[in-house]
Amino acid sequence: MRPGAPIATDLVLLGGGHAHVEVLRRLGQRPVPGLRVTLVAREPLTPYSGLLPAVIRGEIFPAQAHIDLARLAARSRARLIMAEAEGLDLASRRVLFAERAPLPFDLLSIDVGAAPSAPEGAIAVKPIGRFLARLGEIESGLSRGGRIAVVGGGAGGVELALALARRFAGRFALVLVSDRPEILFDAPPGARRIARVALARAGVSLAIGVPATGFSCGAVCLGNGETVAADAAIWATAVVGPPFLGDAGLACDEAGFVKVAPTLESLSHAHVFAAGDCAAMEGFPRPRAGVFAVRAGPVLAENLRAAAAGRKLRSWRPQREALAILGLGEGRALAWRGAHFCLSGRWVARWKERIDARWMAMYAPGAMGAMAAEEPMRCTGCGGKVGADALVEALVPLVEPARPDILAGLAAAEDAAVSAPPPGLVLVQSVDYLRAFLDDPFLFGEITAVHALSDLYAMGAEPWTALAIAGVPYMRGEKMAEELAALMAGAARALADAGCTLTGGHSAEAAELALGFSVTGLAEPGALFSKSALRAGDRLVLTKPLGIGILLAALPRGRLGAADLGAAIAVMRQSNAIAAGLFRRHGIRAATDVTGFGLAGHLIEMLRASNVAARLDLAAIPALSGALQLAESGIESSLAPANRAVLETALGGPPLAHRAVALLVDPETSGGLLAGVGAEASGDLLSDLAAAGLGAAAIGEVFPASEGAPRLRLM
Ligand SMILES: Cc1cc2nc3c(=O)[nH]c(=O)nc-3n(C[C@H](O)[C@H](O)[C@H](O)COP(=O)(O)OP(=O)(O)OC[C@H]3O[C@@H](n4cnc5c(N)ncnc54)[C@H](O)[C@@H]3O)c2cc1C
Repeated sequence: MRPGAPIATDLVLLGGGHAHVEVLRRLGQRPVPGLRVTLVAREPLTPYSGLLPAVIRGEIFPAQAHIDLARLAARSRARLIMAEAEGLDLASRRVLFAERAPLPFDLLSIDVGAAPSAPEGAIAVKPIGRFLARLGEIESGLSRGGRIAVVGGGAGGVELALALARRFAGRFALVLVSDRPEILFDAPPGARRIARVALARAGVSLAIGVPATGFSCGAVCLGNGETVAADAAIWATAVVGPPFLGDAGLACDEAGFVKVAPTLESLSHAHVFAAGDCAAMEGFPRPRAGVFAVRAGPVLAENLRAAAAGRKLRSWRPQREALAILGLGEGRALAWRGAHFCLSGRWVARWKERIDARWMAMYAPGAMGAMAAEEPMRCTGCGGKVGADALVEALVPLVEPARPDILAGLAAAEDAAVSAPPPGLVLVQSVDYLRAFLDDPFLFGEITAVHALSDLYAMGAEPWTALAIAGVPYMRGEKMAEELAALMAGAARALADAGCTLTGGHSAEAAELALGFSVTGLAEPGALFSKSALRAGDRLVLTKPLGIGILLAALPRGRLGAADLGAAIAVMRQSNAIAAGLFRRHGIRAATDVTGFGLAGHLIEMLRASNVAARLDLAAIPALSGALQLAESGIESSLAPANRAVLETALGGPPLAHRAVALLVDPETSGGLLAGVGAEASGDLLSDLAAAGLGAAAIGEVFPASEGAPRLRLM
């Protein structure tokens, strides 16, 4: 065993809101031995609401107002699951999703914000990330001179109207609609006056004193039967709690917010905590503002730490009134506290800028550099088999209906699987085994299965059966079984998509999570693809972009951004089935899949087997977003140097100084297929691959090999 404690408690942080980023930061700085932290986040980039108006005004880029949860989780040694939770099973302590296996927890902390409450046809300002994405649509959907209504006269609505007026100045008119007789109803009269002047200067008209009830036929409908003409309506009114929280049985108030004690613990479920907009502390009514979520962060971190250790929780009293600062635009801001005191001016705007910048800096990649070195969170385990019950439990839900060609599969529970191949077809077999490169066991299981099946597609075979072998690190209690179940559920999804039946499996305790498959495919003997079928004149076609090894090397170093990680995952999840089918349709015979040896290594294997040479056009090699920049900053996979040595031998010397060379030696997990295509068929094949949504490219050409000349040339 390495010194780390085995995983004893699973803490799931649901939602990457303002409180949870601080929990992550603190638990990352001082991890709790045996506590595994998993963040579940719908959006991998979480917005900081204080900077939203500056983004809308066009003063800063959206990235400057967002915290990258992939980097924060990596630095904090927390697992990140990029998915939207759709429910909770509090009795069996599981977070439920639409498209993936349930996630078990011992402790759950919820910071998912509030749910939008916009009527049909209107645009909700929440979730902020989605609203920002829709701003462009509003802009392009309206003709010049159009009118936009912002519904909601609180701080959020007023600030939003001012920011939009600035952004759309001279193009669209703005009207602010509010049910209250005054805007900023709870603010001091002086603050209301200043805000009214700012709205008038920005050209925002007011329609206040009657509630808005809906939006249809180019108008906001009001409670008194009148309407306010508007081409688009943005709803920034009171919000409600996400319905799935109350539906799960958590005690919630009448608006659906989780009722919590001063310890932030749910009043109904002792192992559940909540903070931020989605929580309501009895006796402390307060506006839904990010500042309260931010303040809750340190207390929540401390209490989650205490709950994991079975220690007493600390009580917290949020202030009744927080300082509100509202950007007026034109470099000015307005601040107030309670109903009596207010300030405004340029210096208030500078003050707000400093507060916002200080907060964002705490979660910037550089600031997190010193985190998380103390306690390795992963247990390295001891040898031995995982309990038979755990394996059976994980495999039983995967039992498929009986098939005549599977004589003994999972359902039979024999010592070995028995299957009868259809007459006239040949068996095509391969084996692959990967150490976990992602913390999400479900996604890792799915991608590993896609990766293993890739060998069959590279041979032109159809997947038939698979046997699994899994290594799971030692954890206490039920956790190993749960980890195995999530792993196998992800794999089962990919196998089912491929029409491949899982017929058996074996699991063992291991130093780290790992999964492998022995896969068997079926093919007509004359229809197999081969590495030795390249011919001079063939174009080389690659079906997926390269760079996965570089990105996966950047991930644990906290150097990989959420957007690039998301794109890499999408590529790894992509099966090669469609590409292989198109290869068959276009009569291709020479193919392989690009995996651990990198494009160069796998191509050189083909060139040797076919006794030909090739030229690669470096400018045509497709790259995953971020891969080239990371490679230039010195990030590469530990396998790259060995692959580079093979490339140098084939080139007869060092490669050109070109940035794409890093891609040639990059080991690809679940990479694409590489094929040799006759020049006349390559155009049609590329069009079909593009129509199927694959990022394929023609990357070079095959020519006759000549004695003593290099096998490979780079251009
Ligand atoms: C225009 C505008 C301006 C504002 N300006 C300010 C301001 O200047 N100062 C201020 O204090 N407040 C401001 N607010 C209010 C502020 O936005 C919220 O109070 C704040 O965002 C609440 O933080 P939170 O942590 O509770 O949730 P959020 O910040 O909403 O974060 C919730 C997170 O949970 C994730 N999530 C949600 N549902 C799920 C799910 N089912 N599964 C997985 N993940 C999920 C989301 O992706 C998100 O990352 C403003 C609001 C608006 C609309």
